[in-house]
Amino acid sequence: MFQSRLQQLDNQSLTRRLHPLSSATGPTIQLAGRSVILLASNDYLGLATHPAVIQAAIQATERYGTGAGASRLVCGTLPPHAELEQALAAFKQTPSALVYGSGYLANLGVIPSLIARGGLIFADRLCHASLIDGARLSRADLRVYRHRDLNHLESLLKRTNQKRPTLIVTDGLFSMDGDLAPLPDLATLAERFSATLYVDDAHGTGVMGPSGRGTLEHFGVEDRIPFHMGTLGKALGSSGAYLAGPADMIQYLVNTSRPFMFTTAPPPASAAAACAALTVLQQDPTRRARLWRNRDHLFTGLTRLGFRLTDSTSPILPILIGQAEKALAFAEQLLAHGVYAPAIRPPTVPDGSSRIRVTITAEHSPEQIDFALSTFERAGQSAGLL
Ligand SMILES: *Cc1c(COP(=O)(O)O)cnc(C)c1O
Repeated sequence: MFQSRLQQLDNQSLTRRLHPLSSATGPTIQLAGRSVILLASNDYLGLATHPAVIQAAIQATERYGTGAGASRLVCGTLPPHAELEQALAAFKQTPSALVYGSGYLANLGVIPSLIARGGLIFADRLCHASLIDGARLSRADLRVYRHRDLNHLESLLKRTNQKRPTLIVTDGLFSMDGDLAPLPDLATLAERFSATLYVDDAHGTGVMGPSGRGTLEHFGVEDRIPFHMGTLGKALGSSGAYLAGPADMIQYLVNTSRPFMFTTAPPPASAAAACAALTVLQQDPTRRARLWRNRDHLFTGLTRLGFRLTDSTSPILPILIGQAEKALAFAEQLLAHGVYAPAIRPPTVPDGSSRIRVTITAEHSPEQIDFALSTFERAGQSAGLL
């Protein structure tokens, strides 16, 4: 049975395979016995391999062991968890913060605390799968609005019964397109229609805003949105996620949020690593500056070569291809020439919008970016894209 379903996927060029690395993540990796330039990681600031972050993880492991031993509420709240939550609340300038095991779990855990059966959720068409799954778990009705199209959202909001509890969910920085949600106008719409706005800032955290506090900081709307969700596994180089917000909301989540309650606490090492990464992020703005310099270098180069990009304004620079089969072939060409930037296909992106999702980090050197650009040129020509 599984065999035939896999065959169906294969017929559509939609089979996925694991690509095991034999090195740490970084600007170059060891893949299939070769050294290649990596343009796919979300470790935007290189913090996953930062010496101070590694040291914090080692020390926490030596002091507190490899596993927390229980869920947070039983006896799994160790010093690194408490320190991380305090550091996150201070960073996000909110009264309190709560750590989840992952961003996926945070969305499953927080959305049902904001809305329930009888309520109405509006989601951007390109929002992350975990927001959709969180919405489903809440049992509220789900409506989808066109990507970043606030006229569409407004027309949907106007058609609804104003008395129903209403939630709007969106990525802050869209993971597969690299563009930003129009947060100031979204916040205004939410205020006008008495809706709650929930922004998942997995990719914005550490990347966007003058202090790296994320997309809300970038747009200057932090104080219009009382609670902020972000993750620790991307720019912060560790794993986990947080909800930063009012103390009563956090207490409510501790008491009712099942993906927080019924799971083992994150390992002490990952909490301590995230905490150390937060310190580096705040003390060393040069990493973010390098990230944006590299992003502009790569963006200018790809645009000059004539690739069709999305409306990205971030370090995620997708090259639009269309058919899954073509995107796969292009990715194979790139890899053959020493650059790993995988094809992203449905259901991660809508049908007919397969792409090469290129990401850049602070750790890439200008020479590596130039090498990658010449590779894109050669592979683009042999794939008939240029
Ligand atoms: C990566 C991502 C998540 C999931 O976060 P994890 O910590 O990897 O589980 C959630 N939302 C968005 C927008 C993401 O990009």
